This record gives sequence, C-alpha cells and structure tokens, in this order.
Amino acid sequence: MTDKQAPVPDRYSAFYWENAARGRLAVQACEECGQVQFPPNAVCESCQSQSLTARPVSGRATLYAMTVIRQAFHPAWTDSLPYVIAQVQLDDAPGIRIQTNIVEADPADLKAGDPLEVVYEQRGDVTVPQFRPTQKNGT
Ligand SMILES: [Zn+2]
Repeated sequence: MTDKQAPVPDRYSAFYWENAARGRLAVQACEECGQVQFPPNAVCESCQSQSLTARPVSGRATLYAMTVIRQAFHPAWTDSLPYVIAQVQLDDAPGIRIQTNIVEADPADLKAGDPLEVVYEQRGDVTVPQFRPTQKNGT
C-alpha cells in the first residue's frame, strides 16, 4: 500500500507543522497590527510587516464548506473512500479557514455549521491537523 502524501514544510509554514507535532494548532499573527492569517505568508497580508509570530488557537472550528470524494485520485486514498475535503472556520480566529479533511464521521451526517475539533494524523515525519465532529461528553 502506498502512503498518503505528506505536506512539505517551508520556512513560513514550519511553525505550523512544529506545533502540530506537539498536538497544538497555531496560526500566523502579525505583531504590528494583530492580523491573523492562513496559510502562513512571508509578510502580513494587511500591513506588510515581517514581524509575524505563531498564535495558538483552541482547535475548535465550524464546518464552512465540504465536498465528498468517492473516487481515489491517488492509490493511497483508496481505503479512505468516501472521504471529505472541507474548509473549516476557526472559532477563535475569525476569518481564518483551513482546508482539511473531516475524519471520524459519516459524510452523510455532516453539514455546514457543524461544530468540529482538531485531531492529528501522523503521515511519515509530518503531523497533519484534521478535524472531526465535536465529541459530546459521556458518549
Ligand atoms: Zn500586520
């Protein structure tokens, strides 16, 4: 079986993957104007400052949009069919949407607005943040 492709961190996204490896979700924040942005960039997209830092976020999110993939476009994904590619809106970083997979859910049960929480998937040397429906206490 072929392994799923892993993201390749670069100089701007390295903090994101390093935090994920520690079980934390972080986005890029501007130290000058406070803007948060995703994906990471070389400069603040609001004020062009290069003073950027990693800001931890809770990992709670809301499903914004999704599509269900029923045909594997790479053999590594065959066993995951059907799977969901989604954009999720971070609850404590307004305007930030992360493209991700929704895991641990029947795609038919998902809809925009659903509450989600981050989980982490190990792919080779890289830890990939993914999201699942928020787990209710006691179930
Ligand atoms: Zn800024």
